[in-house]
Amino acid sequence: MRFWGVRGSIAVPGAQTQRYGGNTSCVEVQLAGEGPLVIDAGTGVRALGQELFSRPEREVTMLFTHFHLDHVFGFPFFAALFAPSFRVNVVAPTFTPEATRDRLGRYLNGVLHPLRVHELPAPIDYGSCRPGRSFERGAYRVTPVQLNHPGGACGYVIEGGGKKVAHLTDTSPLSRPGEGVAGGGRPTGRELAVINAIKGADYVAIDTMFSEEEYLEKMTWGHGYPEYAAALCREAEVKCLGLFHHAPDATDDDLDRLAAHWSGGLDGMRVVVAREGEDVDLSG
Ligand SMILES: [Zn+2]
Ligand SMILES: [Zn+2]
Repeated sequence: MRFWGVRGSIAVPGAQTQRYGGNTSCVEVQLAGEGPLVIDAGTGVRALGQELFSRPEREVTMLFTHFHLDHVFGFPFFAALFAPSFRVNVVAPTFTPEATRDRLGRYLNGVLHPLRVHELPAPIDYGSCRPGRSFERGAYRVTPVQLNHPGGACGYVIEGGGKKVAHLTDTSPLSRPGEGVAGGGRPTGRELAVINAIKGADYVAIDTMFSEEEYLEKMTWGHGYPEYAAALCREAEVKCLGLFHHAPDATDDDLDRLAAHWSGGLDGMRVVVAREGEDVDLSG
């Protein structure tokens, strides 16, 4: 698993974000010998697109969590879409493949971007997915899971090679304050659906853009906080939690402090702060 962009909302290049990175959401999952899965095409996808030319695989599957701009802005800057030698599959939580293409077409429409979506040169196969309905892509098994975000968002659990990872962004807690795992009680129904999907995962990245205090002020914004993500993952017996979708205002020093705060993990579960350029090698 490799992080190409870990930031939420807007890219924030600059001196304050050099170590954790300023690019928006883009995460790659790859099994040796298989084409990669790319979750979201924030600004981080541009560098991934360039690197793909140095690898032998020519098939890429892009999984979109939702269509907010910080997750799609890099799409028309992904070089594989301009190379007819690549085959690109695009999957999103929509009702039909045409709806997936049309959603991206609201951005690639000749106005917000000079190209229209049907003018992209690579062969693109559009698909749709539904939360709870697993599907296979090559050696990967992908399970979409319903998140809690304005307009909807879909996380992905990916299994392959005997390993399991999940990427859950963008999302608020799945229960109200004081209820479910956040309140130290039994999981709510919505929490259980996610807990069952990520059960025993080796690595789970979750949207923790806010502190708990900020979350309580901005409960409808659709983002979570570290203590909640940790409670959810501990309940699911996850091995490592990656804090993800960092706020644009979070500086490297802020994120160092966050990492230090969680350096002891939680009840044997590791908790780390996702960093752009970082490889999470699960091969052992
Ligand atoms: Zn976002
Ligand atoms: Zn969003």
